[in-house]
Amino acid sequence: MINTTIQMVDLKAQYFQIKDEVNTAIQNVLNETSFINGGEVKEFAEGLKSFTGAKFVIPCANGTDALQIAMMALDFKLGDEVIVPTFTYVATVEVIALLGLVPVFIDIIPETFELDYSQLSSKLTDKTVGIVTVHLYGQCANMEFLLQFAEKHNLKVIEDAAQAIGAVSTFSNGKHAQAGTMGHIGTTSFFPSKNLGCFGDGGAIFTNDEGLAIKMQMIANHGQKKKYQHDVIGVNSRLDTLQAAILRVKLKYLGNYIEARNKVAELYDEGLRNVYDICIPVRSNNSSHVFNQYTLRVNPNDRDHLKLFLEKHGIPTMIYYPIPLHLQVAYRPFGFSPGDFPVSESLSKEVISLPIHTELDVEIQHFIISTIKKFYESK
Ligand SMILES: *Cc1c(COP(=O)(O)O)cnc(C)c1O
Repeated sequence: MINTTIQMVDLKAQYFQIKDEVNTAIQNVLNETSFINGGEVKEFAEGLKSFTGAKFVIPCANGTDALQIAMMALDFKLGDEVIVPTFTYVATVEVIALLGLVPVFIDIIPETFELDYSQLSSKLTDKTVGIVTVHLYGQCANMEFLLQFAEKHNLKVIEDAAQAIGAVSTFSNGKHAQAGTMGHIGTTSFFPSKNLGCFGDGGAIFTNDEGLAIKMQMIANHGQKKKYQHDVIGVNSRLDTLQAAILRVKLKYLGNYIEARNKVAELYDEGLRNVYDICIPVRSNNSSHVFNQYTLRVNPNDRDHLKLFLEKHGIPTMIYYPIPLHLQVAYRPFGFSPGDFPVSESLSKEVISLPIHTELDVEIQHFIISTIKKFYESK
């Protein structure tokens, strides 16, 4: 047995590595007491701009708001249809429904968890206005294909990059671009367990279009450019100065964090590649992976037993996600039924995500790997 508590995500260990720097940054904000729109917010946005290569970065309160503000800025109208994968976190679909738009679900590709491009054409109607693609678990979808398809059909592309900040896409002309910076708008989240996590809620929006940037900045701030002059209907969605100060420190280490996560993934790959009935994460040809999650696919008959077995040995795991969104009670009114998206429905019974974080000990990883092997040997 291992003599420490194994965690899915170890926020404490990561904090202790940069404690002095973070504490100083927090203390500086406290000394200034400019808690809303303090200088750190702008500085962080600038830092994120140079890290990602996006022309414009608009910080906001969380990743869900980021998606909502994006769709408000694109002027999607009541009843417009937005194509979205059914196998994702609920936030992606929630904002579509909240704005009175219609989520048009689509299945995903089982190997890479990106949306199934072969189904796109059949989903088009004269009401289709956009596609939201989710870079699930930390790997970009095929943006080259999506952008070409969208241009041909006059659609907007929103990238939900909440799990993929720092992932790099490669295009066939050799060009590279980061997650969130390729579509018309990209969004991300700084929820503590994301790869660039703050100490509460936070989010950001990316775009290379100046008009959209100005509009989204306004929407995030009650629709005003000038105080008390409201030109569009907006929301209140700000990144706290405290969170921005923390994120500014952590952004310096994001490259290292991505590297650490890839090391963890490689060790899991090595240990589990040849285990009977396990499918390790498939790397896509056109994207690097930042491994917000390390997700295995196993036989659906084994999955819950494996989860329980690992739990008994002190190893936590998570199921991202146990129910595809088209089958969730809240989304039943959109008229989908079991069987509509067979790949997502099977995946929800096959996936299991292992502990992964920037401070995960090699010895603990070996213990996790050998415990998984023990499960399959004892079957
Ligand atoms: C975390 C996440 C979000 C939402 O982010 P919040 O900051 O929690 O609102 C949206 N989409 C995906 C895919 C996510 O993983």
